[in-house]
Amino acid sequence: MKLTIIGTGYVGLVTGTCFAQAGHQVICVDKDADKIKLLKSGGMPIYEPGLEELVKANTAAGRLEFTHSTQEGVERSDIVFIAVPTPALADGSVDLSYIEGVSRDIAGAMTGYRIVVDKSTVPVRTGEKVAETIKRYCKAKVEFDVVSNPEFLREGFAVEDFMRPERVVIGVSSQRPVAAMREVYLPYQAPIIVTDINSAELIKHAANSFLALKISYINAISVLCELTGGNVQEVANGMGMDSRIGRKFLDASLGFGGSCFPKDLSAFIHISAKLGYDFGLLKEVQRINAGQLDRFVKKIMDTLWVVKGKTLGVLGLAFKQNTDDIRMSPAIELCQRLLKEGAALRAHDPQAMEKARAVLPGVTYVDDMNEVAVGCDALIVATEWPVFKTLDLQRARQNLSHPIIFDGRNLFDVAEMERLGFLYKSIGRG
Ligand code: NAD
Repeated sequence: MKLTIIGTGYVGLVTGTCFAQAGHQVICVDKDADKIKLLKSGGMPIYEPGLEELVKANTAAGRLEFTHSTQEGVERSDIVFIAVPTPALADGSVDLSYIEGVSRDIAGAMTGYRIVVDKSTVPVRTGEKVAETIKRYCKAKVEFDVVSNPEFLREGFAVEDFMRPERVVIGVSSQRPVAAMREVYLPYQAPIIVTDINSAELIKHAANSFLALKISYINAISVLCELTGGNVQEVANGMGMDSRIGRKFLDASLGFGGSCFPKDLSAFIHISAKLGYDFGLLKEVQRINAGQLDRFVKKIMDTLWVVKGKTLGVLGLAFKQNTDDIRMSPAIELCQRLLKEGAALRAHDPQAMEKARAVLPGVTYVDDMNEVAVGCDALIVATEWPVFKTLDLQRARQNLSHPIIFDGRNLFDVAEMERLGFLYKSIGRG
């Protein structure tokens, strides 16, 4: 099928590439001319495991193209996907100006029937507004259908998730676009849920809020573990073996971040309030999450007494493993707080250092994770990159002026760290 994706970011580029990989003819559009130039010249604007190879293979095969012209994308495709940002505004509501702008651009470019699919995460009832906008701005007065098709991929595992989705949600207001949407997703052999547009939009916000809730739940349990000497990993294992609960998203930490959970939670709370429902449960999820970073910083301050003038090593800057994305990263916020307290920082991240430089200019970036601890008063683990588990701990102990490790991701074994002579402080473990 002929598909266009408007917005070539973490979602749009993965979506377009994986559609092409499945045999569709795809055009990825972005208004960022530098990004399009980079992609056309074989460069990659983001890090996502396995993506670069697929982009190269599919551009070489002629199935994947890039342009900054929405007009061109709309003219040459049957289905147009919207994958532009939906960031949070200061009051927690969603900035829908990107969606509105793209809807107008699409309307202006349509010369015949098109299916317009929203893949961005949006508050319930946005589809209705997209349809209204297209109708208002489409001079050619052609027929169209708006579809909601929320995306559930996880950054760091995006290609894998897209190629093997656990489900595909298709929200429609008429049956006309259903067959074409089924055909788009046919190669992935995933269960397809066809529903109304409002339900599809609600599914995405409900799912992300539930996952955030699960993380905050185990983080609250981690506080109880610290107060009682319990071990949150043992508790999570015991809970997670119950198939009604499941072990995923039960890892205590310094809190969740990223470009999705924080803004989607705020958006869901905000839209609920607007509809007349106070979603207090989700406000508590936010409060617990903010508290985790506060507690972690306090742990560092209480142990070191004064951080002003001390040098701290930080492992991890991305908001989670396997990505270079630092949007709303707890690791970045942690660094900002420590810098504000007067600490000097030496930091390493396998992929996110380039992006971190722009927001944390005063930090010393270290290419080798085993060199971070050199001359530091303590080492901090802020992101759960699996490679950090292979840190040369003997070397870290020698490099540190005091053998202190604060682990915000529970990567190491408590008994082993004590045996190695570390003062080791993690989350919810004794
Ligand atoms: P992103 O910022 O990485 O990418 C968005 C792209 O859209 C940018 O390249 C930007 O230049 C482009 N853009 C903005 N306005 C445009 C316009 N008018 N025309 C053409 N291009 C335009 O954002 P993202 O992380 O890919 O997220 C996109 C949407 O998908 C958001 O609603 C997000 O909540 C949702 N989502 C994200 C993830 C994720 O893991 N990142 C997962 C599921 C859903």
